[in-house]
Amino acid sequence: PTQTQYGLMSHEELVAEHERQSANYERLKSEKLTLDLTRGKPSPEQLDLSAELLSLPGADDFRDGSGTDTRNYGGLTGLPELRAIFAELLNIPVENLVAGNNASLEIMHDLVVWSLLHGTVDSPRPWSQESVVKFLCPAPGYDRHFAITESLGIEMIPVPLREDGPDVRFIADLVANDPQIKGMWAVPTYSNPTGAVYSEEVARELVSMPTAAPDFRIFWDNAYAVHPLTEHLAPAIDILGLAAQAGHPNRVFALASTSKITFAGSGVSFFGSSTENLTWYQKYLGIKTIGPDKVNQLRHLRFFRDADGVRAHMATHREILAPKFALVRRILEERLGTSKVASWTEPEGGYFISLDVVEGTAARVIALAKEAGIALTGAGSAFPYKKDPEDKNIRLAPSFPSLGELEKAMDGVATCVLLAAAEKALADK
Ligand code: PMP
Repeated sequence: PTQTQYGLMSHEELVAEHERQSANYERLKSEKLTLDLTRGKPSPEQLDLSAELLSLPGADDFRDGSGTDTRNYGGLTGLPELRAIFAELLNIPVENLVAGNNASLEIMHDLVVWSLLHGTVDSPRPWSQESVVKFLCPAPGYDRHFAITESLGIEMIPVPLREDGPDVRFIADLVANDPQIKGMWAVPTYSNPTGAVYSEEVARELVSMPTAAPDFRIFWDNAYAVHPLTEHLAPAIDILGLAAQAGHPNRVFALASTSKITFAGSGVSFFGSSTENLTWYQKYLGIKTIGPDKVNQLRHLRFFRDADGVRAHMATHREILAPKFALVRRILEERLGTSKVASWTEPEGGYFISLDVVEGTAARVIALAKEAGIALTGAGSAFPYKKDPEDKNIRLAPSFPSLGELEKAMDGVATCVLLAAAEKALADK
């Protein structure tokens, strides 16, 4: 927000407003809350929706449709019937989609490490032999993506993220001229944390644009592909098809998992890519493991039955999540709407709301909240190197707390936003 209500106040009005907000804040602190809005974890009620998994597949059920004994070693690509369900949901051909263990983040880490150590199928040499390797990072984005690239010494370039995806002009210009840019993070559906949904035009541009690096890779992390908060689900883009059409069949590494469908700690992950990329991936995967946890895959198969089973299951998540998002929106509107000291995203799916407060006050808001017993995600955490250039972004994760806790926490956050804004306006006078 550029012109806040506070910016328009006289000095006297502002002093009075600051006093009012300080008094509110003291009241908040006296409540001695301990609330947590930091991570996008499913709530216990959501985990209960998948309780049946704990007794599946059952003592005498251990073979998949082709007769494979899931208890034994092998089957590197995962159970075909489970892959078929997610192939339909993710709009990826089943032969181009493999099912893995419990974390798609682990696959992403492997992909980056193997590209560094061995190079991709299109690499003139391993990435680690380049003097510098860079990744484009639409921001605000997912902190754990940025943690992978940072920990492996890959230079991160922030890219503005809009409602329909990242700024493709900006990106196309960079990748056309800089062969050190080898990759890009992307959360195409209900992105973490803004809720942005990539349009088909943006997707088409990303897979079509000429890149100076012959081995440029888009990490198409569709973690929230089936996670709408409304009746309408954003359709999954045929990203591998578009890439192949554009003559860049190997450009896309597509990822997904059931972490926020079943159990966040013991779901099933998926990796989709071109045949050539999958052969490359399996060459290294086969060294790392003899095969994935197929019993877990089988119980997921029995639990879902088919793609409609997943859709119906997601509707039950939505019944729990949608009221929480509505509550956050209501409190933000009621407490911060008129003073214009903040703006926020209104996601149609996913797990987060991205809150922008007055420039230069996000770290202060987070510190105030902490002192009042409300844990918020660290300042700048949605940006590469945790550097929010404007110190204004706060990621809100409404899924885990109960409605009652969430109401208290968000009311407290609003109090902190107002106090920090009043402090800043006073200091700027
Ligand atoms: N990608 C995104 C965008 C996420 O928000 C998360 C967190 N749920 C993950 C990946 C982690 O997925 P997984 O549990 O499959 O590692």
